[in-house]
Amino acid sequence: MSALARLLRAAGLTGRGGADFPTGTKLELAQRHNAELIVNACDGELDARKDGWVIAHHLSEVLEGAGLLTARRIRFAAHRGSGTWETLRAAGVDTLAVPHRYVSSEESALTRLAHGGPARPVMRFEPITAGGRVGGSARRLAPTLVLNAETVWRVQQIVEHGPRWFRSFGTADEPGPRLVTLVDGVAVPGVYSAEAGLMLREILDCGGGLTGSARAIWLSGLSGGFVAADDLSRIRWSRAGLGPYGIGPGAGTVHILAEAADPWPRVLRALIYAVGESAGQCGPCMFGLPAVLGDLTTVLRAGPTAQSTGTLTRRLGLVTGRGACRYPDGVAGFVGSALRTFLPPVEEDPCHR
Ligand code: SF4
Repeated sequence: MSALARLLRAAGLTGRGGADFPTGTKLELAQRHNAELIVNACDGELDARKDGWVIAHHLSEVLEGAGLLTARRIRFAAHRGSGTWETLRAAGVDTLAVPHRYVSSEESALTRLAHGGPARPVMRFEPITAGGRVGGSARRLAPTLVLNAETVWRVQQIVEHGPRWFRSFGTADEPGPRLVTLVDGVAVPGVYSAEAGLMLREILDCGGGLTGSARAIWLSGLSGGFVAADDLSRIRWSRAGLGPYGIGPGAGTVHILAEAADPWPRVLRALIYAVGESAGQCGPCMFGLPAVLGDLTTVLRAGPTAQSTGTLTRRLGLVTGRGACRYPDGVAGFVGSALRTFLPPVEEDPCHR
C-alpha cells in the first residue's frame, strides 16, 4: 500500500459524492491497476452546488490533490456549458463535457464517456477502479479512479494538514469536514462547511437558520428522503443519525418544506423528473419508475387506502436492486420516505387482509 493510501486510511476519508466509500481503499486498488483519474465536478444530485463551489474557490488545491493521486492522465468532468465547465476550460484543464442528465455523471457513465462511449451507466461485476467487466461480456472498462471534486480537495488538505487535523472534525466513525448545500428556506442559502454529528438544526444555522415554520426537510435529493421538522433538534446529520430514516448525508443537499405547503406537488415534480432522467435501458427505469408514478398518482387522487398504498409499496420493492446502477433504488427510497413522512396512516380494509 502506498504512503498516500495509508495516510487517507488513517484520516478515515470517504467519498464526498454520496456513496461514502473509503477513499484509501479505492486508491489502493487504483494504484494496483494503474488507473487514470476522473475528478467529477458535475454536482449530479438535484440542486447540489458544492463541487462547483470547490472548483470556483479551490481549483489549485484540487489540481494539487489530483496530481498526488496519480501520475497517469487526469481528466475533470463537468456538465457541458455550466459555469464549472467554463471555469475549468478557462484554466486549461482537460475536461469532459458531460450531458445534462442525472445519470450521466455516475462513475461508469463518466468512464465510458472518457473513452468515446455514451455517458450512460453500465452493469459491471467488478469495480471500475480495477477495470471492471461490463455486462457479463469479456469487455472491460479502462481502470479509472472516479472521485468527486470535494474528495480530491480533502486529499490535498489531509496531505497538507495531516490526519489528526482531519479527524478534529466530525465523529470517530465519520471524520472530516464536509460541504453542504442549503438550497432554500434559510436566511442565506449557499454552500457551507459542516461536519457529521451536528444536529440538523445546527446545519440550518450555517445559513442563518430557518426563515419560517418548516414541516420537513428534504436531504440528499433523489437518493435521499425526508425528516419531519419536529426532529430537527433531536437528529444528527450523519450516517448513524439518519440511518433509521433510510437516508444519509449523501451529496449534502438540504431543502426546506414549509409548514403551510402541501409536500406532494414537490414530491411528484421530483418523481416526474426522475422518470425522465434515467438512461432508459433497464426494466426498473423503463417500466418500474413510470408505474410507481402511476401508483402514487392514484393514491393521491383517490386518497390512500390499504390496497392502493400496498400496491405502491410492493412496486417500490420490485424496482429496487434490479438496474445496472443504483438510480432506481435511490428513487424508490425517496418515494418510500415521502410515504412514511407525509401519508396519514390508513385503516386496514378487512376485505383485503
Ligand atoms: S438502472 Fe436506470 S439509470 Fe441505471 S443504467 Fe439502468 S436504465 Fe440507466
